[in-house]
Amino acid sequence: TQKEKEEAIRRSNALEKDDSLAFRKVSRQEYLKKREEKKLDELRGDIEDEQYLFEGVKLTEAEKRDLQYKKEIYELVKKRTEDADNANEYRMPDAYDQDGGVNQEKRFSVAMQRYRDTTAEEKMNPFAEQEAWEEHQIGKARLKYGSKNKKQTSDDYQFVFEDQIDFIKASVMDGDNVDYEEMEDSLEKSKAKSALEALLEERKKLPIYPYRDELLKAVDEHQVLVIVGETGSGKTTQIPQYLHEAGYTKRGMIACTQPRRVAAMSVAARVSQEMGVKLGHEVGYSIRFEDCTSEKTIVKYMTDGMLLREFLGEPDLASYSVVMVDEAHERTLSTDILFGLVKDISRFRPDLKLLISSATLDAEKFSDYFDSAPIFKIPGRRYPVEINFTKAPEADYLDAAIVTSLQIHVTQPPGDILVFLTGQEEIETAEEILKHRTRGLGTKIAELMICPIYANLPTELQAKIFEPTPEGARKVVLATNIAETSLTIDGIKYVIDPGFCKMKSYNPRTGMESLLITPISKASAMQRAGRSGRTGPGKCFRLYTAYNFHNDLDDNTVPEIQRTNLANVVLMLKSLGIHDLLHFDFMDPPPAEALLKALELLFALSALNKLGELTKVGRRMAEFPLDPMLSKMIVASEKYTCSEDIISIAAMLSVGNSIFYRPKDKQVHADNARLNFHTGNVGDHIALLKVYNSWKETNYSTQWCYENYIQVRSMKRARDIRDQLAGLLERVEIELTSNSSDVDGIKKSITSGFFPHSARLQKNGSYRTVKHPQTVHIHPSSGLAQVLPRWVVYHELVLTTKEYMRQITELKPDWLVEIAPHYYQLKD
Ligand code: ADP
Ligand code: MG
Repeated sequence: TQKEKEEAIRRSNALEKDDSLAFRKVSRQEYLKKREEKKLDELRGDIEDEQYLFEGVKLTEAEKRDLQYKKEIYELVKKRTEDADNANEYRMPDAYDQDGGVNQEKRFSVAMQRYRDTTAEEKMNPFAEQEAWEEHQIGKARLKYGSKNKKQTSDDYQFVFEDQIDFIKASVMDGDNVDYEEMEDSLEKSKAKSALEALLEERKKLPIYPYRDELLKAVDEHQVLVIVGETGSGKTTQIPQYLHEAGYTKRGMIACTQPRRVAAMSVAARVSQEMGVKLGHEVGYSIRFEDCTSEKTIVKYMTDGMLLREFLGEPDLASYSVVMVDEAHERTLSTDILFGLVKDISRFRPDLKLLISSATLDAEKFSDYFDSAPIFKIPGRRYPVEINFTKAPEADYLDAAIVTSLQIHVTQPPGDILVFLTGQEEIETAEEILKHRTRGLGTKIAELMICPIYANLPTELQAKIFEPTPEGARKVVLATNIAETSLTIDGIKYVIDPGFCKMKSYNPRTGMESLLITPISKASAMQRAGRSGRTGPGKCFRLYTAYNFHNDLDDNTVPEIQRTNLANVVLMLKSLGIHDLLHFDFMDPPPAEALLKALELLFALSALNKLGELTKVGRRMAEFPLDPMLSKMIVASEKYTCSEDIISIAAMLSVGNSIFYRPKDKQVHADNARLNFHTGNVGDHIALLKVYNSWKETNYSTQWCYENYIQVRSMKRARDIRDQLAGLLERVEIELTSNSSDVDGIKKSITSGFFPHSARLQKNGSYRTVKHPQTVHIHPSSGLAQVLPRWVVYHELVLTTKEYMRQITELKPDWLVEIAPHYYQLKD
């Protein structure tokens, strides 16, 4: 009503005023401090999430050994983090301002914190700590290297290291003959030009440039072309531009798929610069929940998953004239499915050009699959790379990577370092330790610029890795696998390869999926090494032995399709009208077991009928870019007239576990703030809903988030996701209705999606999953951890020290029979 509206406006105005007033009370200092604490907490949470325990699954001896090994590595990473915790000094990545300098304010707040933490005695001499540390190190070095070290000049930095790592030079990977001087000459010249001209010059220097015309001719003559070229040769950034220049965009857009979000964003940004247009106009990108394109867009970088979704709305991809499946060698699940789909449509769309581009030389397989499509090879331009292995296996690769970075920094000629780590938490840990250690050395060593890059790094900070290294300094890029082939960073001369990456694994028997730290393949190792030889002769330091390399690493990475949960993909294929999944044209078929498991789940969710055909529910579910259980929960909300509430919950769940934070010194406050949302033991889902609604009532106040120990960034993301889900609801014609007072209705909607995840309390306080009996526990962070309801549904399982259910809600057992009678039956 009008009155209610007015009241709401008045309230929000009042709040806004309060908000700004209160906000001013928080000084910049406090604000920064809070952010630091938040970061710390995230880090801790992440590490917790990333540990896995492998109980309750029958494994072969070899698997057991393998898993045990991985577990040990996790323990080491965890310990490292705890050490970092105790180090008590955290500087955020945003401590650097845009020019790459250190944000003085930030530095000051950190220094203040340290100062407060030091003892009175230390305060008398602010450098005491550093001096003592240096003394200690020098003393150690003397012990280690004998007295002759004393005589050495101060530019000998042997004492930097507690433990040096010995490498054995193994081989040199051949480079190609290039005129070195000529290249440097032209590089010099290009500096003087205007930015756009300089970019044009740079474009002309890429290895792909001399082959421009030949490539365009090949595209013209063949419908499908496999393109192979060394990483950094210009495939991703140049080919779409060449095609645009040749007029292909007159007939439709050019799509270029990337397996990673960050790559799609970063490459689109680069290409928009090169073309001198605004990002999102002619050149744009599209990733899940973020569409940065417009009417004008003609070159569209997108994740492979997003192109898959476009098939739903446009089964023949009519708005595209070219589809470039880039980074094909990565063989992600979505890329593999795309292969089958684009191959299919290319048959009845002779005007559609199909480019499959890959960084590895194993292109025959792609060619064979695409009916012997011709292979276009872009000759590489790489300098020789010296490969070094460690003498003995390294127990702690993170530590070894840090030590090696410093070793290179103080002993090797200029050139940037690229370190491959497995994920955000490892990168952040490494960053902190590196900072801590270099700080101890003060001005004794040249500046080391530490640049992290991983999927969740805020966009503003991603650009930093591409900034040129200042004179006299050295850059060390701490990257995930993204730098293996998707992103090319110029100026890298040294690569440190610990030999691991994070990889998804799936157990079709239990339906459980997890990310595991896994040894990389030989092909990956070669790719990583190659990253050091782009602008001059390079060196690669492998933190494993030559024996490991030859005997323990697989030749190639197993395609994702063979090690993942397929429910999502099966639902998508079904809604594209592809019924005979066993005979789908897979490049490498998934295990039949995994396909069956996916079909089973979709049937249970009523997305498929007994004949395996898509139902109306299934069709609606497929509209949502979410896991089938979440989609089902949303679709079911229609029945319980609570769609508004359910999409808020779905959005909050999609943000992950970064909603609440617990600063070290305010844990009690934070916990109390959190408990407020759990009043009445409503369960975690409803608590998330309350958080969202309360935030909304304060008109999305930032201050409110601070007061409640809630992360604003996560909340904003939840709001974005929620807006999009609301749009999709409209598309599937489900009315937006709220029914906050009917908590049971909301819980029933949740149960409609998550009933396969129900568990029952046991006498000893643990739980047993109902369908595939397994012992599980309530995660300590749950609002129901002390309540122990008899029956629960959970959102997900996480394996840390125990098998934990995270995000749980109590349910009544008769709901299971009411909602999923085909799945659960009452026993007498
Ligand atoms: P490929 O796809 O063959 O691996 P790319 O087209 O990605 O090669 O890269 C070509 C060049 O463009 C590289 O030298 C790389 O450094 C540069 N480049 C790519 N993305 C960016 C970016 N976001 N910022 C700056 N330079 C970039
Ligand atoms: Mg590329």
